[in-house]
Amino acid sequence: MSLPTAHRALLCYPSRMTIPDPIPLRRSLLRWFDRARRPMPWREDPEPYKVWVSEIMLQQTQVATVTPYFERFMARFPTVFVLAAADLQAVLEIWQGLGYYSRARNLHKAAVWVVKERDGVLPRLSSEWQALPAIGPYAAGAIASISFGEVVPAVDGNVVRVFARLLGIRKDSTLPAVRRALTAEVTRCIAPRRAGDFNQAVMELGALVCKPRNPVCEGCPLQRWCEAHAKGLTATLPVRPTRKPVPHMDVAACVIRRGPRILIARRRPDQMLGGLWEFPGGKQEPGETLEQTAVREIDEEIGIHIRVRRQLGAIRHAFSHFKMTLHVFECTPVKGRARAVTVDAVKWVSIPELRTYPFPAADQKIITWLETDR
Ligand code: SF4
Repeated sequence: MSLPTAHRALLCYPSRMTIPDPIPLRRSLLRWFDRARRPMPWREDPEPYKVWVSEIMLQQTQVATVTPYFERFMARFPTVFVLAAADLQAVLEIWQGLGYYSRARNLHKAAVWVVKERDGVLPRLSSEWQALPAIGPYAAGAIASISFGEVVPAVDGNVVRVFARLLGIRKDSTLPAVRRALTAEVTRCIAPRRAGDFNQAVMELGALVCKPRNPVCEGCPLQRWCEAHAKGLTATLPVRPTRKPVPHMDVAACVIRRGPRILIARRRPDQMLGGLWEFPGGKQEPGETLEQTAVREIDEEIGIHIRVRRQLGAIRHAFSHFKMTLHVFECTPVKGRARAVTVDAVKWVSIPELRTYPFPAADQKIITWLETDR
C-alpha cells in the first residue's frame, strides 16, 4: 500500500510513521475523554459563537485563566451582533489582563465582517472560517469540528506533542514538512462521528497527561501505541529548535501630573498593544540616561517638554518575544500643550478615572501604585 504524500517526510527517520490501525486508538482515547474531560463553560453548549470566542482566548493562554474572562465576555457580548455593534475600546476593556490584544482586535473586526457580509450567520466549514481575520487552520478546524462535527484536524502544540511522541518522530516538529505529515496522520485517526470530541480529546490528553515535562505515561490511554514510551524517548520528543536568547529593553514611562490630573496616551491601532492606553514614554536609546529618554519621548510623542521629578519604581514584564524593564518617572509639564503627535489620542484624567480605560498589564501596576499614593 502506498503512503500518503505527506508521510514521505517522515520516511527517512527511524520513526513508525503511521498508527497501523487507528480504530482501537480512537476508541481508547474517547473512552478516556468521556471520563476525564474538564467542565468548561463553552463545552456544555458548543454553540459556534461561544466556541469561536473560547478558541481565540485559549491561544497562548491556559483554561483556568481564560474561564473568568470568557464568562465576563459572554455576559457583555452575548451574540456576534452585540460584539459587532460594540466599540473596540469596550472589547479591549473586557480583554484587559488577558494579553495578546491583537486577538481582541481581530475578533471584533471579524464580528463586524460577519454581520456586514453574512448577516450575522457564522460559517460552518473550516475553509469558510479561515476567510475571517486571523483565523488559521487550527482555530478553523477546532470550531468546525466541535460545533458542526466536520471531520477536520485541529493541530495545536498539544496535538503536535502527543502525535510526535506516539509516532516517535525524531525530526524538528516545527518544520513545515513534519507538521504536514503529523496533520495528515491526525486526520487519518479522527473519529468520523465524533470529530470535535476527538480533537478535544487529543488536546486534553496533551494538557493533562502527555505534558511537556514528565508525561504521566502510566495513566495514558494511548500507551500501548506510543513509540516514545516504548523506546524511552518521552523526555526528548518532540524535537524543537534551540531557542534564541530573548532580547531585553529598558523603557521609560512617564506619570505626568497637572494638578489632580494625569496624562495618558492611546497607542496607535497598527502598534503592538494598539488601542490600549498607557503612561507615555518609550525605549532607551544608546548613550541616553533614562531621564533623557523620558524627556525625548514625551517631546516626540506628545509635543510637550517635561521635567522629571523622581523615579516611582521599575516593573519587569515579559512578552512572547522580548523582555522589558519599565522605569516609571513622575514628571511635570514645563512647556507646550499635549497633543497626539505619534500616538492615537491623549487625555488628562483623574486617578479614579484611570480604571475606566483599558491598559496593558505593566501599566495597570502603575495605576495600583497611584491608587495607593506611591
Ligand atoms: Fe504521551 Fe506517555 Fe501517552 Fe506516549 S504514553 S502519548 S508519551 S503520555
